[in-house]
Amino acid sequence: MARYTGPACRLCRREGTKLFLKGERCFSDKCAVARRGQAPGQHGAAGGRKRTKEYGLQLREKQKAKRYYGILEKQFKTYFVKADKKPGQTGENLLTTIERRLDNVVYRMGMAESRREARQLVIHGHFRVNGKKVDIPSVILKKGDVITLREASRKSEKIKMLIENISARQVPAWIDMDKENIQATISELPTRADVDFPIEEHLIVELYSK
Ligand code: SF4
Repeated sequence: MARYTGPACRLCRREGTKLFLKGERCFSDKCAVARRGQAPGQHGAAGGRKRTKEYGLQLREKQKAKRYYGILEKQFKTYFVKADKKPGQTGENLLTTIERRLDNVVYRMGMAESRREARQLVIHGHFRVNGKKVDIPSVILKKGDVITLREASRKSEKIKMLIENISARQVPAWIDMDKENIQATISELPTRADVDFPIEEHLIVELYSK
């Protein structure tokens, strides 16, 4: 599937906010948003973020969410259509569904420094869901699903390094994480309160509802 492969920091600067796409660097003073903050390009400072019309705000909010989770338009729209058909609030349904993507869960369980890295690890087949190898990052997990690290993957230097750092990572309450055995269970479905990213999802709903 097509995927944005350009500089990650450029996306954050475009949105004027940290999207946490580069692991540890995002928490350091090397972060481009912390250093500069303005939209990229020659006219960045006077461009995008001054666009305050309703449509512009709605569009930016959607782009921000897509970039935060690393999802392209077609798939994001599909999530929206499904969220809209479910009972409850569409915006909330949208975000809490995306939170349950396998790549996001791998990131949340502390086994990757960024969602981009989590996606790569999943694609390379390092994880099992309920005992079966799953290499599709967009798989939506359900309550009770168990995610484990493939035994052979423990030999990888990259994985060893990630395991070494896992104790420092905070895992959300809806994931029951056994850090010793690298096993995560979806103990509850995430709620809106579990989406720890400043996003106004009603703007996304308004945009798609036009
Ligand atoms: Fe780059 Fe991370 Fe800062 Fe975004 S949050 S600008 S990806 S360092």
